[in-house]
Amino acid sequence: MLELLFLLLPVAAAYGWFYGRNSLRQEELKGKANVAKNLSSGLNFLLTDQEDKAIEQLLQLLDIEAATIDTYLALANLFRRRGDWDKAIRIHEKLHQLKLPKLQAQQIQLELANDYYSAGLYDRAEILLTALVGTDAFREKALKQLFSLFIATHDWHKAAIFGPEVDKTDSKSLRIAISNMRCQDEKRPLDAFSLRLLTQQYPQSIRPKMQLAQLLLQQQQLDDAAVAFKAVLAQKPQWSAEVLPGLIQCQLPAQEWYQLLSQLAHKQKNVTATMYLADWLVQTGSPAAGEQLLLEKLQQQPNIRLFQRVLQLRQITEPEHRAALHSVEQLVNAYLETKILFSCRNCGFKTRQTYWLCPSCQQWETVEPLSGIDGR
Ligand SMILES: [Zn+2]
Repeated sequence: MLELLFLLLPVAAAYGWFYGRNSLRQEELKGKANVAKNLSSGLNFLLTDQEDKAIEQLLQLLDIEAATIDTYLALANLFRRRGDWDKAIRIHEKLHQLKLPKLQAQQIQLELANDYYSAGLYDRAEILLTALVGTDAFREKALKQLFSLFIATHDWHKAAIFGPEVDKTDSKSLRIAISNMRCQDEKRPLDAFSLRLLTQQYPQSIRPKMQLAQLLLQQQQLDDAAVAFKAVLAQKPQWSAEVLPGLIQCQLPAQEWYQLLSQLAHKQKNVTATMYLADWLVQTGSPAAGEQLLLEKLQQQPNIRLFQRVLQLRQITEPEHRAALHSVEQLVNAYLETKILFSCRNCGFKTRQTYWLCPSCQQWETVEPLSGIDGR
């Protein structure tokens, strides 16, 4: 009989194992039920506009259930979009404290930095972003956000420190941004040597070339200024209206000046270059050739500024009609004074002023001269 009891031992062990496993599952189920209860009451608070209570409830859950991080990120983004920076920050800060896989932790760090930036907590944003610049996955995004921050705080000098990190990315806009911020720093104006270095380091950017040309012109280094002005034209012929008034002061040899203007007028169809070329023909003793050039160009590309120059020329060649021509010219002038001259190719912002930084979309060197019937 006693032997029979021994035979029952494995049955008892199996029962113990089964019972233990079942009670673990019970615990697990109980935990999950709590999570679901807290989650539903958290969402309930949210739906009844008791957002502070909702956040408390939902943040408590995070300690228990880290698998719902995506839901929290979505919730935080929702708050950020509504302008509730505080709530977005609280959620992201809580997520930032969790031990998560590296990429996920970096993503949350970037989100938190964005919250700080949006809430105007620039110091905190800068610390988080500077750390992210060292990562391969988020370098470019962190640099772009960091440069936006320097635009907001006017800390132009800080951008230069990130030159080596910008070099590790393929981003053209970051290179143009760093070059512009170096030029923007009025407290530390760049000399010709530094500007020349910048033109070599960031050939994509036209601002250092333009600034170098203007500085050399001021210093009466005309040959070097001409080289810098011509470099701008080679890269962006549409900037002729801004460059040619400086370049004409560099007193290029007549033949070179003529060839440069002809190339810009005929190949690039640039209006300002056409007007300079017509002026050159008039000054060298061929007013008829000057007017002929303007009329030919007007037939190919209607343009109010070319028409205005024809009116000006006619006042010289036909003095008997000067009064009538002058009054028409006045009307054209008044019309042109209302016209926009530049437009941002990124956001479409329109202006009569030059801007290196678009005031609307905060991108560098995207505000460019307009072409067309009123263009220059
Ligand atoms: Zn813009």
